[in-house]
Amino acid sequence: MRLFETRHHRVKRETLEAGFLDEWRVICAQRFAWWERLDPDRRVRLEALTLDMIATKSWEAAKDFEVTDEMMLVIASQAALLILELPTDSYRNVKAIVVHPSTMVMHGEHSQVSGLVSDDPVPILGQANFHGPVLVAWDQVNNDARHAGLGHNVVFHEFAHKIDMLDGSADGTPPMATADQFDHWVKVCTHAYEMAAKGHGGHSLRSYAGVNPAEFFAVATESFFSDPRTLNHEHWELYSVLEDFYKQDPLNWISLD
Ligand SMILES: [Zn+2]
Repeated sequence: MRLFETRHHRVKRETLEAGFLDEWRVICAQRFAWWERLDPDRRVRLEALTLDMIATKSWEAAKDFEVTDEMMLVIASQAALLILELPTDSYRNVKAIVVHPSTMVMHGEHSQVSGLVSDDPVPILGQANFHGPVLVAWDQVNNDARHAGLGHNVVFHEFAHKIDMLDGSADGTPPMATADQFDHWVKVCTHAYEMAAKGHGGHSLRSYAGVNPAEFFAVATESFFSDPRTLNHEHWELYSVLEDFYKQDPLNWISLD
């Protein structure tokens, strides 16, 4: 027990000491479609990562909105799924998560379609800032979490951006273990990215995957975890390099019917 600690440190310490609560398991089972499909080992690790995120990240709400335990759980458990087999500090650059009730509007120059840049305001479901927070629209998060197999998932998308940024650049290539893995990744992803940019990405790589390599990696990650069967069917080599990178094979342990 420390004599002097800030309120923030006390809340963090007490949350970690309390551990993953039984009532949280009930919420996850109801709200996170992947939860029941995880084997006991994976679920224990997912709980630890989720608890750590809830305790150590800053959770903020948009104006006139409030972050609930349910929101933190549903967001953190999905984010944790991506790093289940990666280093546990893979979200060290995620300082804050900002929850908005619904769609946000992005201003400034952006691209939604390959080759076209616009500065018209555009509705967005989430955003991952390089040195800043992850923003998500709660209504979309909630829907994605309840329905595995959709092939899209805003939490997977935005947290994939944060994983991509770990090596200092948002370029669609996260840190690789070896030069060989890097070379193979570049070869396979370049081919799939070019397909997506031409509009030939199939169901698993929607057109947004062709906007730039960073969006390609984020969209591919969404497909890999939320509709692995279609991604493997349409782009098996891409599935294989993602399997190598994430050290997970969702086809084998997630039955998304
Ligand atoms: Zn994105």
